[in-house]
Amino acid sequence: DVKESGKNNYQWYTPAIETARTRRSLIERLLKSALDQGEFRLVYQPKWELRRNEVTGVEALIRWNNAILGDVSPAEFIPIVESSGMIHEVGEWIMHEVCRQFKIWQKENLSIRVAINISGAQLLHPQFLDHIQKVFEEEKVEPFHFELEVTESVAIEKVERVIDVFCRLRSAGFLISLDDFGAGYSSMKYLSQLPVQCMKLDKTLIDHVSYDERSQVIVSTLIQMSHQLGLTVIAEGVELQEQLQQLQAYNCDQIQGYLISRPLAADDLMTRLAEIRSGSK
Ligand code: C2E
Ligand code: MG
Ligand code: MG
Ligand code: MG
Repeated sequence: DVKESGKNNYQWYTPAIETARTRRSLIERLLKSALDQGEFRLVYQPKWELRRNEVTGVEALIRWNNAILGDVSPAEFIPIVESSGMIHEVGEWIMHEVCRQFKIWQKENLSIRVAINISGAQLLHPQFLDHIQKVFEEEKVEPFHFELEVTESVAIEKVERVIDVFCRLRSAGFLISLDDFGAGYSSMKYLSQLPVQCMKLDKTLIDHVSYDERSQVIVSTLIQMSHQLGLTVIAEGVELQEQLQQLQAYNCDQIQGYLISRPLAADDLMTRLAEIRSGSK
């Protein structure tokens, strides 16, 4: 059926849209108690340095398991957390949790850099800098052990603001990466302006790199360009040995993907790192 919502503006209501709406509002409702109920946890995916042949960092990725919905992907619920204004609370929990875990690893003599994903709404919140500073002061950990991943699309939306926030984060000691580079509109102009240290090439660029000549040209050129801009480059979503070989040939700095390791519970990381070190990739 068709509902009229204003002049010359018809919206089609299909069962699929209805279902999506119902799911979205259900997610929104269940998210409200997720933090208090302890339904979130973090998993960690290794970042492997090609030349040093070792894992020097991990990326923290959130997981949500709910009694009614089961596991829900962050790709689905993070945008809802953002739009419903809960991202600051959830974001703070993530930062505390990462710091807590980092201190455990430090005690176990594992020195590793931990990357935290920061969503757009979180980064652009007027109090974000105060919040992040407060968390790291309370936890008594130094920012230079941490990396913040911000998606390219966010960074080019409000460039002036983002440049300012990035500069402040960098003076505080954080490393900043541009996440999902090449997934959307990639602006070379902004790339030259943004004070980031690392560029994460999106999985969609990596997917065809082992066999498609055009992808090869794009990826190798992006790597060269990033290096000339003084950035390190990490390839996301590397699943195949052939992709790794191409990226190695292009002098890519780091790779991340199922080929090296899936995201792991903190307790499983040590074991997996030992396996990777002994060559069973
Ligand atoms: P992202 O930051 O670009 O993270 C990479 C995603 O690709 C992760 O999905 C990871 O599990 C997945 N991945 C890694 N290697 C491979 C591979 O070889 N093959 C395939 N098919 N996938 C791979 P995940 O954990 O579902 O997260 C999806 C997105 O949700 C993230 O993209 C990020 O934008 C967001 N997200 C995840 N955790 C957080 C968080 O703690 N905070 C915020 N703000 N956003 C988060
Ligand atoms: Mg990321
Ligand atoms: Mg990414
Ligand atoms: Mg992504």
